[in-house]
Amino acid sequence: MNETKEEIKSGYISSINGTLIEIKGLEDQVRLHDLVRESKHKILGEVIQIYSDHVIAKVFENTFNLKLNEEVLSLQEPLSMELGPGLLGKIFDGIQRPLEATFLKSGGGGFLERGADIPSLSRKKNWSFKPLRKIDDFVSTGYVIGVVQETQLIEHKIIVPVGVFGKITYIAEEGEYTVIDEIYRLKRGSKEKSFNMIQKWPITKHRPYKERDYPQEPLVTGMRVIDLLFPIVKGGTVAVPGGFGTGKTVIQQSLAKWCNADVVVYIGCGERGNEIADVLKQFSEITDPKTGHSLLERIVIIANTSNMPVSAREASIFSGVTIGEYYRDMGYDVAVLADSTSRWAESLREISGLLEEMPAEEGYPAYLPSKISSFYERAGIVNLYGDEDLGKENYGSLTIIGSVSPPSGDFSEPVTSTTKRFVQAFWALDANLAYSKHYPAINWLNSYSKYPESISDWWYERDIYWPEIDIDWYECRKQINYILSQENELKNIVQLVGEENLPENQQFILFIARITRNSFLIQNAFDSIDCFTGIKKLIGFVKLILLLFNEGKQLINQGFLIEEIKELKVVNDILRIGRSVPNDDFKRLEKLRTKLINEIETLKLLHGVFKKK
Ligand code: ADP
Repeated sequence: MNETKEEIKSGYISSINGTLIEIKGLEDQVRLHDLVRESKHKILGEVIQIYSDHVIAKVFENTFNLKLNEEVLSLQEPLSMELGPGLLGKIFDGIQRPLEATFLKSGGGGFLERGADIPSLSRKKNWSFKPLRKIDDFVSTGYVIGVVQETQLIEHKIIVPVGVFGKITYIAEEGEYTVIDEIYRLKRGSKEKSFNMIQKWPITKHRPYKERDYPQEPLVTGMRVIDLLFPIVKGGTVAVPGGFGTGKTVIQQSLAKWCNADVVVYIGCGERGNEIADVLKQFSEITDPKTGHSLLERIVIIANTSNMPVSAREASIFSGVTIGEYYRDMGYDVAVLADSTSRWAESLREISGLLEEMPAEEGYPAYLPSKISSFYERAGIVNLYGDEDLGKENYGSLTIIGSVSPPSGDFSEPVTSTTKRFVQAFWALDANLAYSKHYPAINWLNSYSKYPESISDWWYERDIYWPEIDIDWYECRKQINYILSQENELKNIVQLVGEENLPENQQFILFIARITRNSFLIQNAFDSIDCFTGIKKLIGFVKLILLLFNEGKQLINQGFLIEEIKELKVVNDILRIGRSVPNDDFKRLEKLRTKLINEIETLKLLHGVFKKK
């Protein structure tokens, strides 16, 4: 945990109610959200209510064994994150205590000893610091003082903390330093202050930036259904609601592994301990295809598992965002993945119940919407402080993807419906799809994304040119959406009259919709090729389906039988593209295109011999 300021004022426990303690004697010593520490067991709490004769604090650890009259100290500061080199590749609990050893050893059930006060960042590890400034330089918030190669994937920029400015009077030479060694000194007027590599930031306050920018670049996820139909942008917000077993965790893990963010913060909130230990194991085993380094080198994991006290769930959510903002401020694209925000909302409900607050819908507190919005509103692509120094604008982004676990998959329940108000994209997971093993089980009829317009130019610049199907990403998604919506409209008629009694052109749409669903939308997260689809393969793949659709439509109009098109050999190839064509093998897709065109030409040549009329 963080080193705290002088522990000065003390009070005593006057009542204990679950994870809440009532303290007397600190009423005029603490501010809302200040930390307190019970002296005997050294457990931490946060002040959540202040009255004239007592304060109420929620305790981040088990209150078992606590007794009345035990001493409580005010730490005179809110819960803050310790920010500096050494966060990447680490796993922390909700209040940023490093978990690794105990956690892994016990397969995710490992608790830290109650009251354990371990520094978040190692005080012993040496980092190679390289100064980028010299004495007498003037620096202010966001300026880069120097760099540390935190992992082989990420260069950690030591930036001037928020609200600080001055002239450099000392800067460390290139060499090895711990996070608590002095790195630079700044002079402002007659005052001089020394800085090391650590900075602290309260978790509930967003880190400031110059201004927000408009998102224009997608966060490429490698999941075809998302990247084509329900895209997300760097700096965007998404909710992933779904009942138990619909694939929320697998989606979040795939994102952590493959999305094109520089840094990923993975928050396991209220999920099973063994699942999170599993995540950690997977991340450490997988290597980044581009660099060959362990993916863990770009990931920070915050774990507040279901067997840890609920009161730290909220802290884990905001700790994750704060760490994300810190890397954003270095100019990185950061993705914060929270699984699951419902467990956090449940902890709010539990604490609100203990406080005997007036419940709103389904027992959740009336402030649920403001809590949820305060999480998602920290996402965005922003213009950072410090850019005047670089002579160019400096941007960083924070994308937030939160999964929601509605009981029995009912999306009208308060957490899902409230979250929907604050996010710009919604990937609705469907139990029926999951049951029929259609993964990712994102329902293409209930899901949406408000981002396609803002990223269509980005895709346009990366389009592949095939004269036979000269349409861009935006037009591709429009056509696929059309095919899927037509299938949905025809569903009822098919039930009444049977598919074989529909006109040929409608049967053909159903055929293409089936190909789209079974080959393009289904994607196996555990297959070494299918787990990730790069942008070139995505466009090539969808264009092949649409080429078959457009050419096939013409053949049907000319009187060909739908069976003749179904029997084209290339249809089988298209169905297997996901698992058989590696991302870097674009030639295979070009060959399939040629094959499709040739097979259709051959059919046309046979026209008149095997034709219907
Ligand atoms: P949830 O978190 O919603 O309870 P999980 O993410 O744990 O659900 O998924 C449940 C199971 O579904 C997984 O263990 C896996 O077998 C299967 N699954 C989910 N998504 C995929 C996918 N994309 N590819 C293959 N299997 C999947």
